[in-house]
Amino acid sequence: MSDESSLDFVRQRVKDDLDAGKNKGKLVTRFPPEPNGYLHIGHAKSICLNFGIAEEFGGIYNLRFDDTNPAAEEVEYVDSIQEDIRWLGFDWKDRLFFASDFYGRLYEFAVELIKKEKAFVCDLSLEEIAERRGDTEKPGTDSPHRQRSVEENLDLFTRMRAGEFADGTKTLRAKIDMSHPNFHMRDPVIYRIKKVRHHRTGDKWPIYPMYDFAHPLSDALEGVTHSIYTLEFEVHRPLYDWLIENLDVPAHPQQIEFARLNIAGVLMSKRYMLRLVNEGKVSGWDDPRMPTLSGHRRRGYTPESIRELCKKVGVSKFNSLTEISLLDHCIREDLNKRAPRYLGVMKPLKVVITNYPEGQEEEFDAVNNPEDESMGKRKLSFSREIYVEATDFMEDPPRKFNRLTIGKEVRLRYAYFITTQEVIKNDKGEVVELRCTYDPESRGGSTPDGRKVRGTIHWVSAAHAVKAEIRLYERLFLSDEPAKELDKDLDEMLNPHSLVVNKEALVEPALKDFKPGVSFQFERTGYFCADPDSKPGAPVFNRTVPLRDSWGKKQQK
Ligand code: ATP
Ligand code: MG
Repeated sequence: MSDESSLDFVRQRVKDDLDAGKNKGKLVTRFPPEPNGYLHIGHAKSICLNFGIAEEFGGIYNLRFDDTNPAAEEVEYVDSIQEDIRWLGFDWKDRLFFASDFYGRLYEFAVELIKKEKAFVCDLSLEEIAERRGDTEKPGTDSPHRQRSVEENLDLFTRMRAGEFADGTKTLRAKIDMSHPNFHMRDPVIYRIKKVRHHRTGDKWPIYPMYDFAHPLSDALEGVTHSIYTLEFEVHRPLYDWLIENLDVPAHPQQIEFARLNIAGVLMSKRYMLRLVNEGKVSGWDDPRMPTLSGHRRRGYTPESIRELCKKVGVSKFNSLTEISLLDHCIREDLNKRAPRYLGVMKPLKVVITNYPEGQEEEFDAVNNPEDESMGKRKLSFSREIYVEATDFMEDPPRKFNRLTIGKEVRLRYAYFITTQEVIKNDKGEVVELRCTYDPESRGGSTPDGRKVRGTIHWVSAAHAVKAEIRLYERLFLSDEPAKELDKDLDEMLNPHSLVVNKEALVEPALKDFKPGVSFQFERTGYFCADPDSKPGAPVFNRTVPLRDSWGKKQQK
């Protein structure tokens, strides 16, 4: 149970209801995705809130697919959504529902409304209905069919259900109030004719309930007590309550709204994510640049880091923009504790240690995680030729440069002290090799005379290293709020450097056949994980995050 002093307003409300014995002391929440795309990180916030509250306060939670729009929905999405929620760490057990399972009951509710003279069949087209809806100043105009008798409405609705009428020729509308200040109460459409195959009910239904009708009633049929929703649904609440009040429902759920998660530079809309996929701007829904949960997973974010983000962002009634650096902070904190360390050189520069015997090899003990001794040690092979990071050498360094430059001694992580003696260049004047000497007395990284060196750099043994492809990611959109620029061409909005592929990297042999799904750190570089594109002996690594926040730094310059 949560500490009361720190309860957000939704938790406080749930607690008050439980304390007051409302809903017979029961707590049931739900997460209601529409299966028309993959889940994104915004959905994670809703899942953590809805399911998290039920877990914290001893309630139960349902997963319900709000599959009322047959045209856009697919089985692939139904499967991926379940996989992603399980990955986040939630288990709805046998409490899986589909709004489509309720079509029969929803139809009966519609009939009940007709019988109570609270719904009527309307022959206006959707355009005509929209035209007559009025505006904030002006009330709407009653439909000419608003006064149809109960018998006529029942007859027409039965025939709609039987498939007698063409798409768009009739709707069923709730009979509420055409001058209501809330547009959603101006005789909203609750059923429409749509002769489209549904992925679960097939061709059984030529009519489908509207979301605003199906949603509250599905909540009620499932016995949901608290229906926690994002703010944009606040204006739908009067209709939600109207339906619950005017129908003989088995439960009286209440809708509570909170502010959605918005992240700077991230476009969280399934419609636009689908466009990115369809137009080939990304490799698929799980492209590591996508805001989807599957994209985050592939990139190496852990469920713990995403749950921690949702916790840190908190729950409020005010929309705000979260910086991605907050998620990156969460993943670094998590992986710092858990991720094994390895050595990997991104841009290799060859180093020959001239006084090291040719053909000799030796092994050093390397610590797998300095934060966690229980993760043990591994062996690192060393030889006369090694590779270091090209950026760790400077011919003409600034004063405080503590890495490789002529005459300066540095420590090779876990190995020896070396000093650069000579620089070899190609015809173009580029540095292609360093000739160094080592101090045999510095084995393991310290000398008997306790000599200090300032810099420690990473390296790989030329004879043992494995070539790897490294994929570096930056944000997909240039703008902080791409949702506000949707009138622009996609190509203008996308960051041309969102993916940078490096095929030259050389890494420790231990990473040769590393399996996707396990995160690790390249010392001094960042957190990475293997991509499913890896082939035996030819690993591909995604950088999850650099060790430090590079985008932030770039922006400051
Ligand atoms: P999108 O606009 O991205 O397509 P949606 O709201 O249409 O999303 P649904 O499948 O209907 O997608 O959403 C399921 C639930 O997730 C809803 O309760 C919705 O309020 C919630 N949700 C969607 N986006 C966010 C977000 N960015 N932050 C928090 N909750 C969200
Ligand atoms: Mg939706």
